[in-house]
Amino acid sequence: MKERRILCHQCSAYDREAMRCRHGKANPQKKAESLLVAELLGVRALCVHNPFREALLLRMYSPNRRFLWTDPPAPLIPADVEIELMEDEEP
Ligand code: SF4
Repeated sequence: MKERRILCHQCSAYDREAMRCRHGKANPQKKAESLLVAELLGVRALCVHNPFREALLLRMYSPNRRFLWTDPPAPLIPADVEIELMEDEEP
């Protein structure tokens, strides 16, 4: 199921009186506008709710890796972990 997009006027960070984001971020509706903001101000100026932000980050920081998401995740802990519980010895 497609994730629903959050627009600024639906967001709790939007200041309705000042008509701007309290965090100083931008959430353009079109991809070309998002790309322009990223080129002018950097990708960090884009809001985390912007649907084009992740793709722009991947393209910027890993331009030669097209299928970055297919990499198998690194294991957090090795498969065979042995844990020994030690009791405190009282003198
Ligand atoms: S830019 Fe992002 S965080 Fe700021 S008001 Fe819009 S949706 Fe919310």
